[in-house]
Amino acid sequence: MKPAVFIERDGLLNRLLVERRQPRSPLSLEEFQINQAVVEPLQAIQAAGFMLIATTNQPGLSRGTLRRHELDHMHALLQRTFNLDGILLCPHDENDACPCRKPKPGLLLEAAFKWHLDLEHCFVVSEMWQDAQAAHVAGCTSLLIRSPWNGSGHHDFVLEELADLPAKLRQLRALQQPEFAVCEAV
Ligand SMILES: [Zn+2]
Repeated sequence: MKPAVFIERDGLLNRLLVERRQPRSPLSLEEFQINQAVVEPLQAIQAAGFMLIATTNQPGLSRGTLRRHELDHMHALLQRTFNLDGILLCPHDENDACPCRKPKPGLLLEAAFKWHLDLEHCFVVSEMWQDAQAAHVAGCTSLLIRSPWNGSGHHDFVLEELADLPAKLRQLRALQQPEFAVCEAV
């Protein structure tokens, strides 16, 4: 069973927009810009044997500000660029009281069911505190990439940039599963 790395799309795979000091997701393909700098680190993670699954809250679907086909185009582009194993999304608004809108752990639990994952051996990577909180509840290890959206809640690690992620994951996996350390040392 492969361990998975869950990665929030906005701010990492694609650029986040900032309006009145608040982050917001792109609402059209024109606003959607892939972050090419993370292609290589993510390839390294996949080559090291991790599944790569994007997760994201997209309340614009529920609010009517984001059209589904526009989002489908964005996600097709993400899929092609990063060769993702999956993209899981919450389409709800905060008023919908759904179980999947992060910081709730519903998307992680859904992924565990779908791909038979052991969440205690999975990692969550994001710029945002909501992902660290969902990871905490689900039993995953959280790694925040430093940003203005890190918050002050629970998180396991903070990295200065996503380029530091492959080495950190190798180190953490070796601690969790020492047999990997032996394999990689040979
Ligand atoms: Zn939801």
